[in-house]
Amino acid sequence: MKYIGEVISKKKWKIPHGKIYIIKDRCKGCNLCIEFCPKDVFIADNQGKPIPKNIDACIKCELCELRCPDFAIVVEGVRDNDGDK
Ligand code: SF4
Ligand code: SF4
Repeated sequence: MKYIGEVISKKKWKIPHGKIYIIKDRCKGCNLCIEFCPKDVFIADNQGKPIPKNIDACIKCELCELRCPDFAIVVEGVRDNDGDK
């Protein structure tokens, strides 16, 4: 089978990580961010608001930020030791 493109190493293709900021005053506890996170980063507090419990699993896909109807989540890229995000 012939492949199109370049074969890259796992080292070169790094998985990004994110840092999550939640603006609690804006959050209405709709749970969308919790439901859509593919890595189960969040648990809900007793008001249904997200707590980033499993932050090391975050792959900075930004689905939580994009889905939040109240702009209550911001995802920031975390730099690794090479300075890459
Ligand atoms: S950026 Fe993606 S993986 Fe990280 S918390 Fe948001 S939805 Fe989950
Ligand atoms: S999607 Fe936004 S408003 Fe809904 S629970 Fe998450 S942070 Fe709160």
